[in-house]
Parts: sequence; C-alpha cells; structure tokens
Amino acid sequence: MTIRVAIAGARGKMGQEAVHTVMKNTDLELVAALDYKEIGATLAETGLFPEGYTVPVFTDLNKLHAQTRPDVLVDLTSPESVYTHTKTALELKIRPVVGTTGFSDEELEELAQLAKDTKVGCIIAPNFAVGAVLMMKFAEQAAKYLPDVEIIEMHHDQKLDAPSGTAMKTAHLISAHRPVHEQGHVREKETLPGARGANYDGMRIHSVRLPGLVAHQQVLLGGEGQLLTVRHDSFNRGSFMSGIVLSINTVMETEELIYGLEHIIR
Ligand code: NAP
Repeated sequence: MTIRVAIAGARGKMGQEAVHTVMKNTDLELVAALDYKEIGATLAETGLFPEGYTVPVFTDLNKLHAQTRPDVLVDLTSPESVYTHTKTALELKIRPVVGTTGFSDEELEELAQLAKDTKVGCIIAPNFAVGAVLMMKFAEQAAKYLPDVEIIEMHHDQKLDAPSGTAMKTAHLISAHRPVHEQGHVREKETLPGARGANYDGMRIHSVRLPGLVAHQQVLLGGEGQLLTVRHDSFNRGSFMSGIVLSINTVMETEELIYGLEHIIR
C-alpha cells in the first residue's frame, strides 16, 4: 500500500526537492501541499513544477486533511509555523515528519507528550543527512575523552534560526558525557560582544551565515598538544532526501515522537 504524503513548504528549497523525491517514489503518493498564502490551486500553477504536478495546494491543514486524508505531513517550513503545524497534525492523526528546525526544548516535550497521548507517530530530525548524524555520534564519543569543545556551524545566509538545530542537537548529545564547565581563561573578556559565540553549558557554538554555503558543521575537540576535528558538509539538498524517505516509512510504524535520525538509521 502506498503512503499518502502531504508537504508543507513545498515552494521552498528543501520542499521542492522533497516534492520531486516523493513524486518519483512508487511507494509514496503526494496527495497535497500546505502553504500559508494563495499560490495557485495546484503545484503546477505555482510555476515552480512541471505541468503534470496537479497535486492540490491548501492554506488550511484541517481542510487539507478533510479532502485528501494524508498519512504523513512532511514539514519543511519555518520556525514560526512548525510547532502549530506539528501539533495540529498530531491532533488530526496525521503523522508528522519534521525537518524544520527552531523548536524550543519545552515545545519538543509538549509534542512528545501529545504524540504519546494520541498514539500518533512523529519524527523530528534537525538533520536528515546520514553523514551529519554520524558526525554528531563521533563527536559525542570523542567528547568523553576530549571534553573541551567548540562547534562551528555554517549555513546559507537565508537561514532563519541560529544556532542551527544540528548544532543544538550536537551540544545536547555531548552534554550527556561532558561535565558542565566553562572553557577558556577565567578572566576572558569579550572586547566585541558575541566574539566567543553562544554558551551551551560552557561549550561555545559559532554560527556562520554566508551565500554559497548549504549546511556544514565542524566540532573541534581540544586537548593538551592536540586537536580533533569532526566535520560534515552537505553540498546540496539531495543529501537530505534519503533521510526524509526513511522517516516517512518509519513514522508509519511508530506511536511516539522520535527526535533525531540516529534513532532510526539501521
Ligand atoms: P526556504 O527555502 O525558506 O523554504 C521554506 C518554505 O516554507 C518557503 O517557501 C516559505 O514561504 C514556506 N512557508 C513559510 N511558512 C509557511 C507556512 N506556515 N506554511 C507553509 N509554507 C510556509 O527554507 P529551506 O532551506 O527549504 O528550509 C526549510 C526548513 O528546513 C528550515 O527550518 C531549515 O532550517 C530546515 N532544514 C532542515 C534540514 C534537515 O535535514 N532537517 C535540512 C535543510 C533545511 P515564503 O518564503 O513565501 O515565506
């Protein structure tokens, strides 16, 4: 049986790639797109997709659900809308697969509880690239031995949230093994505010935003006389698509919220 998929944010950089991926996959059926403004009745009418893409576009998730009955909602929108989309989808018993970043810890906890209460599966993955998941895992392991860590994440200049969801997730994973401690000199002083980056339990996170970049991260782990660098680069958005397809298939078999692709890669 094919899985019925709706995509929120289909006009975006990730969304367009996801639309083509789902259309090409014979196990999946793209039944609807969700937008927040009138962009045409079908994807083809937006002018961004081929004429054969007659998938209907909705601006209201309740209407989308009533008319197209998707199994899964893939969200690739913005930090402002993703929480409401995910919550509404869970209430409607549509399984969310969320790539949008920018959730607070409280929002993640609330959604996890809602997924548990409704028994509706949900996968939230700040990074769908398998290589990025491995980068996080290797950094997590290395921090047990080299607990002085700085994270440098680099993205295109249209990204709305900073630090990236991947950097936050990396810091969260590392913090399970790294005793909380401030790094650098005790009398360190920033002569330009922000020079030392964001502070996560004493770990520093630096966000670079430049045109030409896609999604890149290095984790620097320093020790006496040595430096270990763990680095991952996504050069194009194709790097995220196998993770999205895996998540769509996996979310059909779960009744709770899973946060992070590392919990589902085999
Ligand atoms: P993008 O090009 O700006 O695309 C976002 C799209 O969503 C835009 O077309 C935007 O429309 C639309 N949108 C905004 N609010 C919406 C709403 N309420 N309903 C429906 N559509 C809405 O951004 P992107 O690079 O594709 O990234 C999208 C999200 O995915 C970001 O949060 C990014 O951080 C994340 N991301 C995740 C991964 C991952 O592996 N998990 C990888 C890359 C990116 P307008 O432009 O007209 O506002």
